[in-house]
Order: sequence, then C-alpha cells, then structure tokens
Amino acid sequence: MPPEKLKDSWIYIQDKGVKVGRIQIYNNWGPYMVNDPTTTWIGLEYFCNKTDDFWQQHNEAIKQLAIRELEKIGLASAEDVLDITVQRMEKTYPAYFGTYDRFDVVKDYVSQFGNLFLVGRNGMHKYNNTDHSMLTAMVAVDNVILGITSKENLWEINTEQEYHEEKSSEVVSQPVYDTFSSFVFKTPLHKNCFGSLRFS
Ligand SMILES: Cc1cc2nc3c(=O)[nH]c(=O)nc-3n(C[C@H](O)[C@H](O)[C@H](O)COP(=O)(O)OP(=O)(O)OC[C@H]3O[C@@H](n4cnc5c(N)ncnc54)[C@H](O)[C@@H]3O)c2cc1C
Repeated sequence: MPPEKLKDSWIYIQDKGVKVGRIQIYNNWGPYMVNDPTTTWIGLEYFCNKTDDFWQQHNEAIKQLAIRELEKIGLASAEDVLDITVQRMEKTYPAYFGTYDRFDVVKDYVSQFGNLFLVGRNGMHKYNNTDHSMLTAMVAVDNVILGITSKENLWEINTEQEYHEEKSSEVVSQPVYDTFSSFVFKTPLHKNCFGSLRFS
C-alpha cells in the first residue's frame, strides 16, 4: 500500500522481524509539512543507546536498512525512494534512574533563582511531550508577567494531566481565560488540537 493512503500520523511497529520502532507519515500531520504533496515524507525511528552498535554505524548503512525495512513492511519499494537523510537525536528520553531519586536537590537549587524558569523536556529533565513543553513555556511567560517567582505551577505540568483530559462540559460551562496558557488550553476550539498529540 502506498504510504500516502494511510491516514495515521504515526504507527508503532511491533514486527520483531524489523528494527524500526515507529513510523511517522509527516503528510498526515498537516499539509504544510511537505513541499510537494504528490510525494510522501516518512520518518523511521530507531530507538537505541549511543553505545549501541546501531548508533556506531555509518549513515549509509542506516539508510540502506531503512529502505530494506520499508520494503519488508510493504510500505514502499526501493525505487520509490527519492531522498533519505539520517538524523541522530541524543538525550531524547530523560533518564529516571541513577541519581534521579535525588532530583529534588537540583530542582530546589535552581528554583532559588527568581528569574530562572526551566521549561521543556531537557530543560526540566522531565518526560514532557510537545504539548507539555509548550505549556511550560506559556506558564513561565504568565509567571513573569504576573510577577510569580515560585516554579511550582511549572513542575505540576505533566504531573497531573487534567489540562488536556478535562471533561468538555467543565470546559464549556465556565471558561476562564485569565492567562495566555489557559486561553490556549481551555478554549474548546483548541482542545482538539492539543488533546490529540501522541508521544514519545
Ligand atoms: C524521537 C522523538 C520522538 C518524539 N515524538 C513525539 C510525538 O510524537 N509527540 C509529542 O508530543 N512529542 C514527541 N516527542 C517529544 C517532543 O519532541 C519534545 O517533548 C519537545 O520537542 C520538547 O520541546 P523543547 O522545547 O523542550 O525542546 P526542543 O524541541 O528539543 O528544543 C530545544 C531547542 O534548543 C536548541 N538548543 C539546545 N542547546 C542550545 C544552546 N546551547 N544554544 C541555543 N540553542 C540550543 C536545540 O537545538 C533545540 O532547537 C518526541 C521526541 C523525540 C526525541
């Protein structure tokens, strides 16, 4: 099946016969993701440690594996491939082991600085997704504007996840847009944009 016929934005690959862990079809994320809509932009994600043999390979070997696996899964043939690039992402997942149980020491230390707001995934060493990361930045801006120097409302994000799991009746009955972040995340129109993001 040609990939463009698939409606999914991403698919986790469970097949033990291939190494690829997830496939993204960027065309399905949004129309502006591809320059030429007659072509398909696919991402194959390979999860590994930097010390793994996989990471040590030359890009060319990774490219050839990706093409072989696309064929094996039946998504495309080698002759369909117009271009391919390898992007290596380090530190993609915050490690919750090692000295993580003493994370509060770091958190308390950096929280002393009134004008320092840590946001995002690596900024907070927290398993935030895109929506969480954006929300931390928005709340940080709200804090600056409101003169709030405590960081607790930032650390609470992605701890209790109500902001994107609210019942629609609650949201519609009494919307309060007193801050930029609540405007973005509590407006019913925006809810579907942010409530549907998925994650790694
Ligand atoms: C493989 C993978 C798949 C993912 N899939 C999803 C998904 O499907 N859905 C989802 O919601 N989230 C997903 N995420 C998570 C999402 O990408 C992150 O949560 C989000 O991008 C974090 O945003 P951020 O602003 O904190 O950091 P980033 O988006 O990483 O932005 C940080 C920026 O800072 C720049 N930078 C770093 N150091 C410096 C410096 N010293 N000076 C200047 N600039 C610097 C970097 O180049 C980067 O552009 C995925 C992450 C990975 C790694």
